[in-house]
Amino acid sequence: MLLAAGCAGRTPDTGQTPDTDGKVQKPPAQSQSVSPVEPGEKKGPAGLVAATVTRVVDGDTLVVRLKDGKSETVRLIGVNTPESTREVEPYGKEASAYTRSRLDGQRIWLERDVQERDHYGRILAYVWLEPPGGVDPAEDVIRSHMFNAELLLKGYAQVMTVPPNVKYADLFVQLQREAREKKRGLWGLEVKDREPYYVGNARSKKFHRPDCEYGRQTAPDNRVRFATREEALDAGYEPCNACKP
Ligand SMILES: [Zn+2]
Repeated sequence: MLLAAGCAGRTPDTGQTPDTDGKVQKPPAQSQSVSPVEPGEKKGPAGLVAATVTRVVDGDTLVVRLKDGKSETVRLIGVNTPESTREVEPYGKEASAYTRSRLDGQRIWLERDVQERDHYGRILAYVWLEPPGGVDPAEDVIRSHMFNAELLLKGYAQVMTVPPNVKYADLFVQLQREAREKKRGLWGLEVKDREPYYVGNARSKKFHRPDCEYGRQTAPDNRVRFATREEALDAGYEPCNACKP
């Protein structure tokens, strides 16, 4: 745990780490805090909640107003856009501007996964631009109507998988691969300082440059060697925030 925390660097900001403070996570179906979709509205996956975006904080974080008038912060599940607030990473401003242009003031629908909130109290959600109309939406519906998927497809976000919220994780890796192969968005940025190989940690699912201290501390049993960063990304590994491979 110590290693994972040190390596992640931005983990507190991404906020999707499992709750460790001992609070019981209520499953979405039992939530009292969010209004269900009203009768007569199109139904999607169980627990789909309508909301209006009142502010875009950055590429993957929004403030929404729910039907009962309550304001909530929403963190998108499974994706991570480059930083644009506390520090500015390459493509962070673009990602933030894109999300603002697509979602600000819009009506959206929130789909939960296993954990309702992160440890900052933010709602964890897949953001639908239109209700998908089924518990297991078809891939083309996800591609065209889910904003998390759109961010990946257009290269504004990288995959960030945080168990147990993994409903669309495999598809997300595939969408990221498409964006990368077409050099869309952040994938069009020049990659500097390529390494002869990379070291993955099978437990944290992060990958590192060979000389990264967090990579070197990886237990031998958890070590995975990748010839290229593309190989690591396609295996669902995420770049370490310390060595930025
Ligand atoms: Zn590293």
